[in-house]
Amino acid sequence: MGIHDEDLQRVKIETDLSGVVSQYVALRKVGQRWSGLCPFHNEKTPSFSVNAEEGFFYCFGCQKSGDAITFVREMEHLDFVGAVEWLANRLGIALRYTDTSDGTNRKERQELTDILEKAADFYHQTLRSGTSAGKVRSYLRSRGFDSETVDQFRIGYAPDKWDALASHLGIPTPKLEAAGLGRPGQRGGPIDFFRDRIMFPVFDTNGAVVGFGGRMLPDGQQPKYKNTPQTRLYDKSKVLYGLHLAKKHIVEADEIVVCEGYTDVIGCFRAGIPRAVATCGTALTDDHVKLMTRFAKRIVIAFDADGAGKAAADRFYGWEDRHNAEVFVAAMPEGADPGQLAEENPSALTDALAAAEPFLSYRINRVLDKSDLSLVEGRARAAADTGAIIAEHPNEVVRDQYLIEVAQKVRIDIEQMRRLVKKPNPTRHQPTPPPGSPPDNSDTQQSTQPPAVPQAELNLLRALVHDPETVTPLALPAMFSNPIAIDAYHLVTTDGWREQIDETPTAATTLIGRVLVEELDADPIELVSRALDAVINRWNTELRYDVHDIEQLRQHQPIVQWLTHRQEEMHSDDTRTAAVEAIVDWLRNQETTGEPDQPSDQNLN
Ligand SMILES: [Zn+2]
Repeated sequence: MGIHDEDLQRVKIETDLSGVVSQYVALRKVGQRWSGLCPFHNEKTPSFSVNAEEGFFYCFGCQKSGDAITFVREMEHLDFVGAVEWLANRLGIALRYTDTSDGTNRKERQELTDILEKAADFYHQTLRSGTSAGKVRSYLRSRGFDSETVDQFRIGYAPDKWDALASHLGIPTPKLEAAGLGRPGQRGGPIDFFRDRIMFPVFDTNGAVVGFGGRMLPDGQQPKYKNTPQTRLYDKSKVLYGLHLAKKHIVEADEIVVCEGYTDVIGCFRAGIPRAVATCGTALTDDHVKLMTRFAKRIVIAFDADGAGKAAADRFYGWEDRHNAEVFVAAMPEGADPGQLAEENPSALTDALAAAEPFLSYRINRVLDKSDLSLVEGRARAAADTGAIIAEHPNEVVRDQYLIEVAQKVRIDIEQMRRLVKKPNPTRHQPTPPPGSPPDNSDTQQSTQPPAVPQAELNLLRALVHDPETVTPLALPAMFSNPIAIDAYHLVTTDGWREQIDETPTAATTLIGRVLVEELDADPIELVSRALDAVINRWNTELRYDVHDIEQLRQHQPIVQWLTHRQEEMHSDDTRTAAVEAIVDWLRNQETTGEPDQPSDQNLN
């Protein structure tokens, strides 16, 4: 991927650096140069200077220097090509690309962007002045959304008609479908994807529309939120709502607030906290965290009270480790989310965010809050519970600091507390041991503590509990590795299990209780596919341990390839269901024949 050299030179020559810099910094002419306050470090007297003729900037304070492309890369958090595109766009230069497929790619993406922009305008105008949107306008007003907010976030309304947008745009149905806005109807004409919904456009980092979240009106019968399906522009596991508006405030504050919903973000902005973003109908992913840490290292989780407590600790610690992030949690009052709080009591929201604690400290304090520390029994219980939580943290120094603090609060001896903080399960960061090898009993303390249930298995259980009709035929014991999850699987696939779970509490019933209260936040087939992804990856790892010579490897090659193809198919909406069924068949076959690696009668393509 690259830009035609001629065009690149043209952009460099025609760009007026002082003009670009002036968009961000007030510049004053000093002799031959321009001077101003450095945007890259905090200062009170100007040491940032621009040589417009040479097209070069330099800061005498922080020594940052470069040309217009460097400047735009830094300010807009873009890569090289992105920065050149940004400058070219400003100059009205149409870029050509060296790789023609890359050019076509960008042309097609641009076309989708244009369609989405038009759709956003249509929805926005319909909300602002459409006769059908009167009820929506009064609803939004009743929720405190003034017209400034509606404009800032380009909120819109999708009319309650089958093809309002499709007929407004008048483009071929495949294009409508590629943009995630419609699909072919049974009578041949296109059908809108969003109907009778409040529309929240989702933007990429640079403010281009990539998709939508559609919220049902309060009296509607449909699911509360509907989001754009995966398209070439929209990948919900990578996009963060509000980031294009929040990014400069995030950089300034060196802090990013993560909420669960669109209205939470808007609430934060209105409460004077313009550094909030939200995921779009999905849990936080590794990609989200990676994206966030480009702007700030300090990530404050502002979920409702249940959401934060349920978040998986090992994922949080993994992000801190991999992305050098600091994960904090803001304690929301019971039953409140940031959106509500912003509406009802904005200063409580500001206070909650200001009092955000590191994730581990947040969890410890929730346990201590609920404990009766005036009783010996209460203190003993609190010590054991907090000990288990501290043990999950991967860093020994951090564990030690916290256990000293807790020991004082629950009034027990530090050495005793240290014994309660068992070592975290060391298998987590190690590859799966070869199958059939004896269990590691060298440390009996470890075997008393089962490993955390992997996210994919939790998701699968959740899908199984909430949509048994779809998921039961596709779920197999082999899709679980965690012993508690396996027990839970067997339990929920037994008739009359709901009656049983209240009777005898076990680790498995606790786990089921948890997935029962969690919402099914994704398509069940997609959740099955993610569990299968994990199974296949595990299978591949085990194969590498098992196979010792080339000949054996050759024998396995067809099935490895077959699985890889199915795995790819699972990542696309069109082919997912068929691929999931094929893999489940293969797994079931393995279970019954006990022949782990034979592809049997599968079609090996
Ligand atoms: Zn500087």
